[in-house]
Amino acid sequence: MAIVGMGALGCGIADLLARAGVGMLTIVDRDVVEITNLQRQTLYTNEDAAAGLPKVQAAQNRLLAIDPGLTVRSHAVDLTHLNVNQMIEKSVQVVLDGTDNFATRYLLNDLCVERGIPLCYGGVIATRGMQATLTPNSDAETGACLRCLFEEPPPAGTTPTCDTAGVLGPAVSIVAAAQATDALKILLGHQHLLSRSLLEFDLWSNQRRRVDLRGSKRVDCPCCGVHRKREFLSGRNGDEPPHLCGQLAVQIPGNPSGTKIDLESLAQRLASHGRVTGSKVFVRLEQASALPGWKNAAVITVFADGRAIVRGTEDVSQAKGLYAKLIGM
Ligand SMILES: [Zn+2]
Repeated sequence: MAIVGMGALGCGIADLLARAGVGMLTIVDRDVVEITNLQRQTLYTNEDAAAGLPKVQAAQNRLLAIDPGLTVRSHAVDLTHLNVNQMIEKSVQVVLDGTDNFATRYLLNDLCVERGIPLCYGGVIATRGMQATLTPNSDAETGACLRCLFEEPPPAGTTPTCDTAGVLGPAVSIVAAAQATDALKILLGHQHLLSRSLLEFDLWSNQRRRVDLRGSKRVDCPCCGVHRKREFLSGRNGDEPPHLCGQLAVQIPGNPSGTKIDLESLAQRLASHGRVTGSKVFVRLEQASALPGWKNAAVITVFADGRAIVRGTEDVSQAKGLYAKLIGM
């Protein structure tokens, strides 16, 4: 099994699966542990944050302390179409989604459809959670993929992120438990016991519903339908990759669709993360101190089409990670 994203969901899933005795786990994450993660990311400690350990390293230490017999393959990388086939080995039977961004989630959907393996999708934001296990290896009645349900990811900068909206720890536990349970059902050969539905809830307002997914597989789905484009896996999804643009500066390209961001509400979301300035055409966030592993304190300038210049690092994946957390991608 592979868990992609070792944030709140990834920690919850890995803890449950390790204690269940799954024997082998592949974990992938590009970030380091920060003190603000500890409220919801249950594998990590104050010492991990103080040492600025990569999340996969801190997670591996903890998981091996729980079960010394567990084999952990950990990858501290930014998952892209170029490395995903290498990082998620061919022997992986199930992929569990612990990602914090849509770009990686849609890449995983393409990979799982291509290989015909299940994707345990999950997401938590603020007090809300969502979970569904998608099985592209099953029949037309039950084999919907993520893009059958949500054809396109929302444009960058148009949705709140875990770092700007926060996450209620207990909501994470529910989604992670449901994902881990489904993975165990699949591992034990009980795929027929999967619920074939999308769970949605808001713990704060006590709302909960299940959407029946049977019959939602689409013949014209851009991923699993007749066209089978799989743009995210082939790198042809129209996104120019982030790249270095000058000393200690990385450019994150804008929305390929040209969708505009509401800069005023973005400025409000960023207000608790540093000094925010701007105008009608951009918003700038200046952080007070350098993040672990960064050369300087981050300065992010975001334009209305989602394009951003991230200063303070020359590491493209660090810049991309911060953009995903604060702006959303
Ligand atoms: Zn599909």
